[in-house]
Amino acid sequence: MIERVNGEKIDLKQAMKLARRISRRHRVTDGDSFRLSDHDPADTGELQREDKPRAKQALKTGVALLSAMQERLYADNRNALLLIFQAMDAAGKDGAIKHVMSGVNPQGCQVASFKAPSSEDLDHDYLWRCMKHLPERGRIGIFNRSWYEEVLVVRVHPELLEAQRLPDRCMGAKRGDGNRIWRDRCRDIRSFERYLGHNGIVVRKFFLHLSKEEQRRRFLERLDNPDKNWKFSMSDIRERERWDEYQRAYEDAIGRTATRSAPWYVVPADNKWYARVVVAAAILDALNGLDLKFPTVSDAKRKELKDARGRLTPQAK
Ligand code: ATP
Ligand code: MG
Repeated sequence: MIERVNGEKIDLKQAMKLARRISRRHRVTDGDSFRLSDHDPADTGELQREDKPRAKQALKTGVALLSAMQERLYADNRNALLLIFQAMDAAGKDGAIKHVMSGVNPQGCQVASFKAPSSEDLDHDYLWRCMKHLPERGRIGIFNRSWYEEVLVVRVHPELLEAQRLPDRCMGAKRGDGNRIWRDRCRDIRSFERYLGHNGIVVRKFFLHLSKEEQRRRFLERLDNPDKNWKFSMSDIRERERWDEYQRAYEDAIGRTATRSAPWYVVPADNKWYARVVVAAAILDALNGLDLKFPTVSDAKRKELKDARGRLTPQAK
């Protein structure tokens, strides 16, 4: 099938096949043997560095296609898509979201960023603040960080867990099993995402996988370039010092929560252009699997449209 997108003719079947191939290379649907070290942050898959201009062109097409498919998602009004982005600082979450969603109608898209919880948030269970931002039917919801922070930053910083004032029986401490709480949380998250799936919300999760060396380079750039100074925060350096703990927490969380219905994409993030191609490809692949249709026009509706046309003739005024 040929689709016209922004005046360009696109072989839809070919484009979707490519999106599937590019994205599936980085997809994790079963975390039993998941090792972060098996994933190279500098990987560019089947694309070579010299393909960068071609990849940028393909991304442009992908973004246009995405916007066409979003319109369908909106009109079909049965499914919603929830895209979760997680990463270490400077991995390019914001840029990836901005680029990939640049062609999408803002009305069909809702972005929520999750930072340190407020005291009101802390008075509730941790899903509470996220639930309020789940996408409506027909929309794409983007979570810039998410409930996964509860098994990442909170795991790396025990004082954050302390601030949640959970009763001892929920902490696993009594049994002397300090890791129980993280296993329980991952299991709960897995079930919750399954619940979302049962309600028509398609969940896709992206870990932008950056190397420590590339993070160093990007931090230095933020320090050197006055236009980027505002992006730098001293806390970024403090979190970097816990790098290995974060990587272990990510590996454990991804391994425990990767499923067929809510897969993780471990997106190589050292090359921003490639990361964006993978993210766009994964979203296209997800939308393509939904069999989205424009609502069909009933006979009664067709008659109504005909009447309306009659009333809009110049003579009718
Ligand atoms: P950027 O740095 O690009 O602006 P960001 O997502 O890193 O984006 P920041 O304001 O720098 O935004 O950081 C938000 C911080 O809030 C992160 O360090 C994150 O780990 C923290 N955070 C998010 N959720 C929680 C949570 N549930 N509990 C504690 N801290 C959290
Ligand atoms: Mg930050």
